[in-house]
Amino acid sequence: MISVEEAQRRVIKGALSKPLTPVIVSLEESLGRVLAEPIVSDLDSPPFDNSSMDGFAVQAKSVAGARPDHPVPLDVVATISAGHPVPDSLTRLDQCYRIMTGAPVPRDVDAVVQVEWTEKDPRHPSRVLIKRPVEPGLNIRRQGADMAKGDTILRSGTRITPAIIGIAATLGRTSLPVYPAPRVAIISTGDEIVEPSEQPGPGQIRNSNAYALYAAVAEAGGQPVLMAHAPDHLQTIVERLDQAAQYELILSSGGVSVGDFDLVKTALDQHGTLDFWRVNVKPGKPIAYGHYRHTPFFGLPGNPVSALITFELFVRPVIRQLQGDSRWRRLMVVLPLMQDFTEVSDRRHYVRCRIEYDGSGKAGIVPSPDQGSAIQTSWLDATALMMVPENTGPLLAGTEVSVMVLRP
Ligand code: AMP
Ligand code: MG
Repeated sequence: MISVEEAQRRVIKGALSKPLTPVIVSLEESLGRVLAEPIVSDLDSPPFDNSSMDGFAVQAKSVAGARPDHPVPLDVVATISAGHPVPDSLTRLDQCYRIMTGAPVPRDVDAVVQVEWTEKDPRHPSRVLIKRPVEPGLNIRRQGADMAKGDTILRSGTRITPAIIGIAATLGRTSLPVYPAPRVAIISTGDEIVEPSEQPGPGQIRNSNAYALYAAVAEAGGQPVLMAHAPDHLQTIVERLDQAAQYELILSSGGVSVGDFDLVKTALDQHGTLDFWRVNVKPGKPIAYGHYRHTPFFGLPGNPVSALITFELFVRPVIRQLQGDSRWRRLMVVLPLMQDFTEVSDRRHYVRCRIEYDGSGKAGIVPSPDQGSAIQTSWLDATALMMVPENTGPLLAGTEVSVMVLRP
């Protein structure tokens, strides 16, 4: 039996050897995808010196002596609004421009006095009273201060967020090269399984894994493909796997433990290779990884909680890697337990839990009450997984624990 780290190392290595061929998508479609090439700036940004304030563009030396009780009067020779450059037009030191935020700053001035530091001259409508001195450069956004022409601004492997889309638009991109969503085939197995629309007969249960995994694949940025359910019948399982092998990744659920009808492993033995089929993790010890024909394959456990936890630990990293995302790890934080957690296991335990806040706003961890691998309701309110190392505990309230954050 191998450790979680070893299993993760092996699945990541497998994914890295098979990156997907990039595709071009429009900016509007690029959110959440991963950039497949670096993006170089085609211009300086900002492209020209411009004002960060509404105010008056002046020569700093002309208002050096300005005080609230002794303002310096300046003649306003022109008004510059955004999008409307004005040629250099100052002829004397006691002149200035009215200027708006984002408007180009003429070269014959070197600072902008914000409007709050000025007053209208009651006697001269074309004159302004400057009440404070300014340093040269004040309130001027310099050309290229944000991005310089020719610089590599976005690295390949960057996950595309709204801010990244904004930068790409600034750099004149209408489309971006990104990694495509890997197509992930999902096969549920088991004689006892009926569809959610059906009323289970004696000994039957409804199919939960196919749908939970479908959503988990989509959430990880993959394109889920739901295959027809397979009963515990070797020939049918092989047929489903043969069909699934055309996609980038195959997920099955059930049929990988040591029960008599655990046929998924047999199918892999016959037509593929198994890298591992047991990991020292709880829940989810029977998790198989290998290749079916030449397609990477995960045999997830049948228990619904185990299926989702092994997905989180081993499959999600692969789906992220196939999309070129080097930052596949979830956020890990260390927080104190808010109550005792007394279960001790010789396996690495991933405990469904939620992050709570005490009266003073300090965060802490509250484990879900029943941690059974068949207790789907242990996910209710859970936003994180507490990682309890092998043979550790009991853990008392206040103990600092490592937590993998799944959602806010
Ligand atoms: P197995 O790994 O096939 O032995 O399944 C382990 C447990 O998970 C059994 O209790 C199964 O009934 C249950 N199970 C297997 N597949 C599913 C599924 N698709 N949805 C819900 N429960 C399942
Ligand atoms: Mg089964």
